[in-house]
Amino acid sequence: MDTELSVRSAHGSLPWVDHGFTMAAIKEWREAQHAKGLPNSLGDFYAAHDLCFDCEGHGVQMTGWTQPLPEEVRVAKELNVERLPLYSVCETCHGTGRAPRSEWRKTDCPERPR
Ligand SMILES: [Zn+2]
Repeated sequence: MDTELSVRSAHGSLPWVDHGFTMAAIKEWREAQHAKGLPNSLGDFYAAHDLCFDCEGHGVQMTGWTQPLPEEVRVAKELNVERLPLYSVCETCHGTGRAPRSEWRKTDCPERPR
């Protein structure tokens, strides 16, 4: 079953892009690159696959926490949290999860204000 994942935002839900790589696959790629003496950082992985590094290929970034809406109170209770994470569309890739390295901001300015 292929389930569309979504996350909550200030304006309803946003799609969570699945870039299709598991943690294990990323690790495998990095180890293979390392063995060949090639660039193998996490950033290199995202660049090699045209994935947006700012949102790690998901098209959305967590931007804060808010009180649960009435229909979310049960979920918050189950998770034992008072507030739930809030997401926004990634400004770098505009929600596609894909961006060339030249558009990334994460490595240029790690303390960029939001
Ligand atoms: Zn992005």
